[in-house]
Amino acid sequence: MALVPMKNLLAEAKRSQYAVGQFNINGLQWTKAILQAAEEEQSPVIAAASDRLVDYLGGFHTISAMVHALMEELSITVPVALHLDHGSSAERCKKAIDAGFSSVMIDGSHSSIDENIAMTREVVEYARLHNVSVEAEVGTVGGMEDGLIGGVKYADIHECERLVKETNIDALAAALGSVHGKYQGEPKLGFKEMEEIAKVTDVPLVLHGASGIPRDQITKAIQLGHAKININTECMVAWTEETRNMFNKNTDYYEPRVILAPGVHAVMETVKSKMREFGSSNKAAKQQVG
Ligand SMILES: [Zn+2]
Repeated sequence: MALVPMKNLLAEAKRSQYAVGQFNINGLQWTKAILQAAEEEQSPVIAAASDRLVDYLGGFHTISAMVHALMEELSITVPVALHLDHGSSAERCKKAIDAGFSSVMIDGSHSSIDENIAMTREVVEYARLHNVSVEAEVGTVGGMEDGLIGGVKYADIHECERLVKETNIDALAAALGSVHGKYQGEPKLGFKEMEEIAKVTDVPLVLHGASGIPRDQITKAIQLGHAKININTECMVAWTEETRNMFNKNTDYYEPRVILAPGVHAVMETVKSKMREFGSSNKAAKQQVG
């Protein structure tokens, strides 16, 4: 099946009170693991390439061709969106769209709200011509080295409202206490702000840095309007632990296919368990008819 725009996936998820997982691509085997996990779970899925990894992964066209070809070779029947995560400029988003991505995030959150709106609007105009969905961000998701509080800037409700109304985006990432990378201590999301933002914007919300957020907070975030949840760190940690184990236990192995197999398997299991947690398992058929 062909890639689908993310907008369709999120509308159905929000209506039925679950979230679609976004899982980041870190290579070919990784992509295969994400797609196979989705097929086994009969779950819609968002495979994402982070803008800072695009060159490492071989460029926009390579990523798009890889995902399209794997879907065909693996006979993937569940709906898949290919998304650019944290697109750094309107130009980068347009390149992803031209290469066949079905969804892009324009991250103007580090600029002023006026610049963010201008940048986002430019991407939305271009994306609409190609039936591609757009996500944008307000506030700052904490960084890997910043610990629990450091680096987090809560999204301002008025800025969220302006961004959604003035750009007509399909999904909003409103930073409310989540962190990219590992949490130091217990994450605490701003649920009061979340509820208010969901009410005034009325678009599906996106939770960045969801690795390590306890299940009860994930459930509450879905109830309060999150229809897309981003997971990367948990997959990377699972892969690293299994791969390190493999090296430690088998010092005489030298075949990459054998050495990397347990890590890839761990990614697949992590993706599947997240799909169950987000409630997206067995929702693929509903997505296709809906
Ligand atoms: Zn993010």
